[in-house]
Amino acid sequence: MPEEVGEVLIPSDRIAARVGELGRLLADAYAGREPVVVAIMKGCVLFLADLVRAWGEASQPHVAAMDLEFVSAQSYEGTRPAKVRVTLPEGLETRVAGRPVLVLDDIFDTGRTLSAVCRRIEPLGVAELKTLVLLAKRRAAPREPPIRRPDWVGFEIEDRFVIGYGLDYRGRWRNLPYVAALRQKP
Ligand code: 5GP
Ligand code: MG
Repeated sequence: MPEEVGEVLIPSDRIAARVGELGRLLADAYAGREPVVVAIMKGCVLFLADLVRAWGEASQPHVAAMDLEFVSAQSYEGTRPAKVRVTLPEGLETRVAGRPVLVLDDIFDTGRTLSAVCRRIEPLGVAELKTLVLLAKRRAAPREPPIRRPDWVGFEIEDRFVIGYGLDYRGRWRNLPYVAALRQKP
């Protein structure tokens, strides 16, 4: 195996505490409204499940009526590095029109994925579009417009490739309960 789990950057108790805070924040932001969470697969599934539960726990009964949708995004490397292909589920438009939408992703790096997804959701007649990411990388190079910044961020992290808590490297390590750096073996 050419690589392995490196330093733990965010232990599970810190993730749980922050997810609890974010749940309370969403309970406030969406009190009495009927938002649709649009999750970008697959990296945010662990975060999504913990977050919506924390949100429900922090909400008064009957004021957290929310629904879930899933979209996928693939970025293409090589000759067209800026190209992100977004796949939306059939009939999404009818389920988000007129409603507040919260786009959820695992990690914000260049920002192309989140921006590309928002560009596809915005024209669907949504009442409001907000974004939340668990992790955002602090980068040396500034992000170019028209990159959309997340409205809410769980943790700012250094610019390293991370795995765990839903994030993979080549299809492995999504089930680590913490966020760790990927260690490349020489
Ligand atoms: P962006 O489009 O912002 O450059 O990257 C966002 C997407 O790239 C994320 O949704 C995620 O799938 C992937 N990604 C970016 N950085 C990392 C990382 O450090 N670890 C993992 N596992 N995926 C990453
Ligand atoms: Mg992703």
